[in-house]
Amino acid sequence: YDFDQATSADRIRELDRSVFHSWSAQGSLDPLTIAGGEGSTVWDADGRRYLDFSSQLVNTNIGHQHPAVIRAIQEQAAVLATVAPAHAVAVRGQAAQRILSHAPAGFSKVFFTNGGADANENAIRLARLHTGRDKVISTYRSYHGNTGAAVVATGDWRRVPNEFARGHVHVFGPYLYRSEFWAETPEQESERALRHLERTIQAEGADSVAAILLETIPGTAGILLPPPGYLEGVRAIADRYGIVFILDEVMAGFARAGEWFALDGFGVTPDLITFAKGVNSGYVPVGGIVISDAIAASFDERVFPGGLTYSGHPLAMASIVGAIDAMEAEGVIENARCIGEEVLAPGLAELQDKHALIGEVRGRGVFWALELVADRATREPLAAGYIGRAKKLLLQRGLLPFTADNRIHVVPPAVVTADEVAQALAIYDEVFAALAREI
Ligand code: PLP
Repeated sequence: YDFDQATSADRIRELDRSVFHSWSAQGSLDPLTIAGGEGSTVWDADGRRYLDFSSQLVNTNIGHQHPAVIRAIQEQAAVLATVAPAHAVAVRGQAAQRILSHAPAGFSKVFFTNGGADANENAIRLARLHTGRDKVISTYRSYHGNTGAAVVATGDWRRVPNEFARGHVHVFGPYLYRSEFWAETPEQESERALRHLERTIQAEGADSVAAILLETIPGTAGILLPPPGYLEGVRAIADRYGIVFILDEVMAGFARAGEWFALDGFGVTPDLITFAKGVNSGYVPVGGIVISDAIAASFDERVFPGGLTYSGHPLAMASIVGAIDAMEAEGVIENARCIGEEVLAPGLAELQDKHALIGEVRGRGVFWALELVADRATREPLAAGYIGRAKKLLLQRGLLPFTADNRIHVVPPAVVTADEVAQALAIYDEVFAALAREI
């Protein structure tokens, strides 16, 4: 079979006109072509190389084209390329065990989905069936995926035109830089956000609330590290009212926050953990739910009324086994943590000292946000036009960025080297200087 690799940029763009793109008006698209990648670098069809400080959609935690993951997929493809979810196959059990080996105590089963959205969709369903209750509480500053309940659990603008599922309630989570609670310290922010959550539960009728669904570290919403005591406080509230606590680790998990699960950094154990992205770095679409013993036991005698043709797809399972084994062997979690503490934290703080348009720097591991402001005193967000301009200037200098609202998220692969981060910091520095001259 002679597959047309269509290597010229013009031909790729012409072919792309047949593709309907996500989250976009289709009329005026001008996507960057991507022809290949390796580690923390990608290149376009004209041969221009970029440091991938977006990790695509914050998912290539192990970098591009990791040979161990590619080999695992190829070897599984040669043995059995597809199989129904009802059958027992070695690679599926192996993938589940690899994931469980990094989960907190008290979790013994994994349900596999096709990605992060349907992981949250099914976690919500598990919580509703387990409790016999209906409502789901999540935060305004969140993204949980683009399916029926997940997109309505989402807090950001993407929920609003898609609000066709019922039983969803939103609260404000902690975000000290733009506090909804007039807080001046992390402790105040934590305490007041918890009080707001508990009062909302009481006002909604605690007996009607099935789940509290939170991203451990809200990602696309701004890499909002929870203040001390917040997640433990949510755990206590969930326990007080018999509510299932779901942590969405789709973006934060598997090395992004310098931990296997970001929750490891906060000493909190939820009832359900959803994952996708970093579990296999997205080489094959996959996601899933790590299920606590108590919730799994709910379905020992009762049928779980849910499933997907590709649940536990063998190529996805092989990619999980390959990725987790390689991450263990190569110390990828440790690398992410060390790069975060020793290179990104001081390097980004230095950028903030130099450039008045950086209002706040926050993050850990390889999960950082630069909050860009027009005025440090008022914290007025930098206008969207300048963010677009920053993106263009970064691309021109060979850095593929991730931007959201008034922020640049610094989210390289977890295998990034100190040298690559140094190159990236020099590019950000140049671009912020150029931007300041234009403002
Ligand atoms: N949850 C979080 C925290 C995410 O960041 C995302 C995607 O960005 C999702 C869920 C949805 O995952 P997917 O796009 O794989 O459905």
